[in-house]
This record gives sequence, C-alpha cells and structure tokens, in this order.
Amino acid sequence: MKYGIDIGHNCPPDTGARGIKFEDNLTVDVGNRVIAKLKALGHQVVECKPTSASTVGDSLRKRCAKANASNIDVFVSIHFNAFNRQANGTEVFAASDAGRKIAKSVLNEIVKLGFFNRGVKNGSHLYVVRNTDMTAILVEGCFIDSQKDMALYNPEAMANAIVKGLTGKLPDNIPVDPVEDEEQNPDVTIQRLQKALNRLKITDQDGKPLAEDGANGPKTRSAIEKFQRIVDIQQTGNADQNTWNAINQILAKRIIRVNHAGGVAVRYLQYRLGVGVDGIYGPQTETAVKKYQQQNGLTADGIIGPITWQKLIG
Ligand SMILES: [Zn+2]
Repeated sequence: MKYGIDIGHNCPPDTGARGIKFEDNLTVDVGNRVIAKLKALGHQVVECKPTSASTVGDSLRKRCAKANASNIDVFVSIHFNAFNRQANGTEVFAASDAGRKIAKSVLNEIVKLGFFNRGVKNGSHLYVVRNTDMTAILVEGCFIDSQKDMALYNPEAMANAIVKGLTGKLPDNIPVDPVEDEEQNPDVTIQRLQKALNRLKITDQDGKPLAEDGANGPKTRSAIEKFQRIVDIQQTGNADQNTWNAINQILAKRIIRVNHAGGVAVRYLQYRLGVGVDGIYGPQTETAVKKYQQQNGLTADGIIGPITWQKLIG
C-alpha cells in the first residue's frame, strides 16, 4: 500500500492549536513514528506536509496537491484537538464509505488506549478530506487542552494504534528521534548550560563563547548573568530554576507571531535582533524580524517559525 501521511500544521502561518501541550509538537512526534512504522511494515509513504506556505490555505492546497500527484492509496492527516479543556476523546473524519471503514478501524485502536470514543464523523467539510482524490481520513488523536487526555497520551502508543488501525498489524518498535519538549528537559548540568548559552550566542564578559568544560567558573557565571539580564530575571549568576526555565522556553522554539505575548522568548529575540528589549512583539520588532528573515533568505512574514528559529539558534 502507498500511504500519504499528512503531519498537521507545522508550516507557518499554518500552526496548530495550543493547550496543555502544543499540537504542532504532537503531530510531528506521532507522524514521524507512523511513517517509520509503515515503512518498516513494507508500505510506501509519501510525506504530504509542505516545507513552507504563504497562507494557511496555501499550506492545505500544497498537502492535497502532493497527495494527488503521488498515486496514493490512502491519505491520513494527523491532528490533535483543542476546545474548552472539558471536551476529551478521539474522533476520526472521513467522507466516503471506504474512508469511514478505515476511520472506524483507526478509531477503535486509539480508544483502546483509554480515550473517549467520539465516533467517526463526517469530514466532507474538511479541506484535505474534500480535496484529495483518494480515500482520506483525518485523525483527531485526542484533546491537547484536556488534563485527562494529556495524562493518557503517549506518542508511541498513539502511533502504534494508528498503524494497527490502518494495516491491521501491530508494528515493531522502530527507534525514531523523539521530538523533545525542551521545556521539560531535566538536564541541569553546567555542561548543558554552557552548550545552551553558546547555542543562544550568549557570550562571557569578554564577548567570547564559553568553554564547554562543565566547570562553573567566572566566565560561565558572567554569561549566566548576561542572560538573566536579557530575559529579565533575578541576576544571581547561578543557573537556578528561573534560569533553566527561561533557557528551556527559548530552546523549545515555540512559534512567535506579532502581538503574541511571548515574554522570555520575545525578550531573547529582541536581544538577538538588536531592538529594544521589552518582551512585547510590537511593530518595531516585527520590522526587525522581517529584515532578519530577508537578510537570511527566508520568507519575510514576521513569524518566528521552525526555519527562522533554526537560523537563530540552530
Ligand atoms: Zn489541527
């Protein structure tokens, strides 16, 4: 079989929902695993997510165009839901009899993980379901703003359920690079700190990068203090919890857009771009972001998405 796997969103300005977790992170993590597992079972996989798009509509159009040009048997769009923090469970959309059959099979596997069964739903209003020529389903794995669902959620189990639902076979565990949520990274060693500050281009008192030697000397402390000043937390010169929280928030590379109250990440961004550091992404910052994007050959849309983050901090 030839599957078209469409990892939802992750293509600014087409970005996912935010809840307790971020839809963009979950769709990549589960999607990568689904792709690896399908391939390991001997199936062909076409990845339908575009690398860039000018609008949300453009992003959706490109996904369908890729699928329609690739002679795919089944198109699977992977998403996660968000509503009112109370709603929970799994729903799968389809618009044809063949689609509903596959949708039901995938849904049955996911609800075995403990999620509430919201049923197979009519997906004829959904762009990627309506505009793909082959059998198509759209999976809403669970709700990222539901405590219950996020306690149940496990990317490996979710991917296994989707693949079992699609193929009838339980895949082996395929090693894939997990999408790390840096915000929860527990590594607080001095060496990780030195590496992180170098990555963030925070230099010591002499303007030099830090030696990544794990020693908490005066140079490292001066760089910590500089970082603390930039993100506006208490300047202790020590890598305390506030410092780690701020570093991990930036390394998580959340998408930042105009008028989005970004706090720490926006302050860091403003420092890097040499505009007034106030933590508010207003018009001046937007101009600086667009200029930076232009100078680096990126789409100058003023949105700090994965590609702009990559340029800034690797
Ligand atoms: Zn979505």
